[in-house]
Amino acid sequence: MTEDSKKHGFATRLSHAGRAGTHVHGFVNPAVHRGSTVLFPNVAARREGAKHRFEQYMTYGTQGGPTHYAFEDVIAEIEGGTHALIVGTGLAAVAVPLLAYLKAGDHCLMPDSCYGPARNLCDGLLKGWGIETTYYDPCIDAAGLAALFRPSTKVLYTESPGSHTFEVQDVPALAEVAHAKGARLLMDNTWGIHHFKPFEKGVDVSIQALTKYVGGHSDVLLGSVTVNTEEDWKIVRGAASLLGQYASPDDVWLGLRGVRTMAVRLQRQAASGLEVARWLEARPEVQQVLHPALPSHPQHALWKRDFTGACSLFGVVFQPRYTVDDVGRFIDALQLFGIGASWGGYESLAILTTGNVTRTAGSGEFGGPMARIHVGLEEPADLIADLEQGLAKLRG
Ligand SMILES: *Cc1c(COP(=O)(O)O)cnc(C)c1O
Repeated sequence: MTEDSKKHGFATRLSHAGRAGTHVHGFVNPAVHRGSTVLFPNVAARREGAKHRFEQYMTYGTQGGPTHYAFEDVIAEIEGGTHALIVGTGLAAVAVPLLAYLKAGDHCLMPDSCYGPARNLCDGLLKGWGIETTYYDPCIDAAGLAALFRPSTKVLYTESPGSHTFEVQDVPALAEVAHAKGARLLMDNTWGIHHFKPFEKGVDVSIQALTKYVGGHSDVLLGSVTVNTEEDWKIVRGAASLLGQYASPDDVWLGLRGVRTMAVRLQRQAASGLEVARWLEARPEVQQVLHPALPSHPQHALWKRDFTGACSLFGVVFQPRYTVDDVGRFIDALQLFGIGASWGGYESLAILTTGNVTRTAGSGEFGGPMARIHVGLEEPADLIADLEQGLAKLRG
């Protein structure tokens, strides 16, 4: 991020970061540079090594090309970091830094509310390689968390708010504990997007599933890993190269296309999401709505302190008198909400979460059956009318 760009508002920067300039004949957008082979003018030039713009040895296409560079600039701008790496999925963006910072004999602290496939990676491959994971309650205090550290703890991981249960964590406090113990703080910042500035809050490595609001149209999978120091860049970029991580330039181009309109989409979806969440919260069938921007959310004060806004993904806990089957009938009855997992697109979604989330550190107990709602760009009044007829089916 340049000093100049910091002066401008977020929507302005989203519109101007990573633009092609005039070297593509004046066209506004960069071209899709598909490429495996990179040619050198002579043997000496290849021996010396063509330099990637981050002074890395450029051998061929796996290090990315001009389409990637433009997108990396936009993501670094959003996250407020120095370097962003683009990979093929959000899950790859979770996996690369975990593999980069952990080795056999190391220990990792993961929140109980982390994205399910991140847990599967820890309990699967990482465990098999001799890397141990302890899951901590996302609402644990700093002293309790510090007590879970071992000399071998190299990574403290956070995802705030947590997947499905939306616990907001005190990230600056986590950073303080991690750094005092000599560990890195890795954060999955997908929900916060640009509303949470990870590097201002002490995070070392920020992960985004760009598949969500950045892509925004449910037609592309992408992820990013952003860092704020040269040292972290060498570690993360190095691991990604060893693992052969790469994103298709066609997908990257779709990501660039999506991100240009993200500020307005997100503003609209956030407002609609809050309207729908408030309506649901007032319904007698609902015990609790898990949305950090609602004053009733247990960590609303933390959210207000650390975030500048919300997205349109939240949880709904129904009264314990209803069963999982009742909630299933409610979801099946919805006409405007698709039953699908990958959120952040222009369309609304609803899924049943009870029975779908693993918790082993005692968090996420709410009593009633749960669903997760993603609010898209439809008119909120239409969505509310749809939910109202769905609730009639829930009641039987
Ligand atoms: C969706 C998601 C991911 C994974 O992203 P994909 O692109 O689907 O692999 C990671 N973290 C969070 C919080 C997510 O919601």
